[in-house]
Amino acid sequence: PAMRLDAVTILPEYFEPLRLSLIGRAVESGLLELHVHDLREYTHDRHRTVDDTPYGGGAGMVMKPEPWGEALDALLADLGSREDRPVLVVPTPSGRPFTQAEAADLASHPSMAFACGRYEGIDRRVLDWAGGLFDVRELSLGDYVLNGGEVAALAMIEAVVRLVPGVIGNPDSLVEESYSDADDPLLEYPVYTKPASWRGLEVPPVLLSGDHGRVGAWRAERSLEITRARRPDLLGRPAAE
Ligand code: SAM
Repeated sequence: PAMRLDAVTILPEYFEPLRLSLIGRAVESGLLELHVHDLREYTHDRHRTVDDTPYGGGAGMVMKPEPWGEALDALLADLGSREDRPVLVVPTPSGRPFTQAEAADLASHPSMAFACGRYEGIDRRVLDWAGGLFDVRELSLGDYVLNGGEVAALAMIEAVVRLVPGVIGNPDSLVEESYSDADDPLLEYPVYTKPASWRGLEVPPVLLSGDHGRVGAWRAERSLEITRARRPDLLGRPAAE
C-alpha cells in the first residue's frame, strides 16, 4: 500500500516541488499519496484569519487554535483507521533534532502529517490537544530559524521518502551513505568519476587499481579523517570550537 503524506499549511504552493524528480515519480506511480491542505479553508471570517497577538505580550503573531483544531479534525476523519495514533510531525526550532534514525523510523509508518507553523508558532494548546490523538513529534531541522515549517517539512519528507522501497532506483545507494549506519556514523568519503585527469588534478590512483580491498580501506580512512576534522561529535568527541 502507498505511504500517505499530509501537510497543513497557509502556503500550499510550497509543496509543489514534491511533484518533481524521484518523489514526483513515486507520487505518479502510486507509491506515495500526497495531500496538501490549506489551513485558511478552516477559517470562517471574511479575512480568513489564522493569527492573533500573543497573550503575555511581545513581538510577532501566534497561530490561532481554532483553524488548526478543525484542520486536524478533518485530517483524522480522512485518515480513518489507517493507524491507531497517526504521526503528526510539527517542525519547530525547539524540537528534538531530526536525524537519519528519525527518518528511518518515520519511513516505517503508513502515513505521516506535517503541521507547518508560521509567525511565532502555533498556540500551544493545539499540540497538547493533538497529543491525545496523534503521535506528535516536534522536530527541528537544525540550530537556526526559518520563516515557516514548510521548508523544514520538505527536507524531512525528502529524507523519509527516499527510504521507502521503490522510490530510489538502486537501493544499494542508500546503504553506504553518511549517517546510514547508527553503529558506524561516519561522513562519506570523497567520490570521483571520469575523466581520470581533469585540469591537472588526478583521481587517487588506488581507485583505478581494481583492488576492492585497497579501495575499501582507502575509503574507510578518508571517512574517518573527514569525520575527525568536521564532525568529531560523531566519534563521541566534543566538537572543535
Ligand atoms: N519564535 C519561534 C522560536 O524561536 O522557536 C520561531 C518561529 S519561526 C519564525 C516560524 C516557524 O518556522 C516555526 O513555527 C517552525 O514551524 C518553523 N521553523 C523555524 N525554524 C525551524 C527549524 N530549525 N526547524 C524546524 N522548523 C523551523
